[in-house]
Amino acid sequence: MHKLDKTDLRILSTLLEDSRTSYAALARETNLTIPSIKTRIQKYIDSGLIEKFTIILDTQMIMRGTSMTFLMKVKPSDLDQIAKDIYDSPFIANMTITSGHYNLLIVTHPMSDKDKLEFIKKINSIPGDSVMELASSINLETFMCKPIELPNTPINLLIRCDYCHREFSGEIFSKAILGRKRYFCSPLCQEKYEDRAEKYIKGELFTHPDKEAKKAETKD
Ligand SMILES: [Zn+2]
Repeated sequence: MHKLDKTDLRILSTLLEDSRTSYAALARETNLTIPSIKTRIQKYIDSGLIEKFTIILDTQMIMRGTSMTFLMKVKPSDLDQIAKDIYDSPFIANMTITSGHYNLLIVTHPMSDKDKLEFIKKINSIPGDSVMELASSINLETFMCKPIELPNTPINLLIRCDYCHREFSGEIFSKAILGRKRYFCSPLCQEKYEDRAEKYIKGELFTHPDKEAKKAETKD
């Protein structure tokens, strides 16, 4: 699958609203049969377009408190390390590397005052002069949070090859390797990745194939 037609977009829009919409309801809505709805949805999953079906909880019913936003200006050379160091914090909801004056944006889940103190301490404990500037604010109310709005004209999917990291929109070759589904632009890329994965498992290669591929990319 490398293109989304109008029917695909219709199915996906409905699932974005409610991922529990039944095959029968989707079939009625699109004038397709239930088996062909099933086939289409399986294709979205196999191609990696649908990453997972999940739920949205009202976090306020579980956690008392408010979430926070942190904008950080971090030494670019330390960015990766800092992101890794604080990534494990259970408070982080979203971490984004940004362009502009600040280069790291963190949004947290709702936190109690005690948790806020703990989290701020953790950020302040980042060693050395890695963090050059830090601005934080308490999020008062999430005004709205809505899913992506899909276009209503057919679109081509953009997929990044797990081996060569090239963005492509043709036929997809996929296989579950090292714990998750990987996508390749060609059988050759798949073969090379599998080869690396095998060596990694055997201990002949010390770097995870994902990191190997990234290294190769920066060399170019
Ligand atoms: Zn490739």
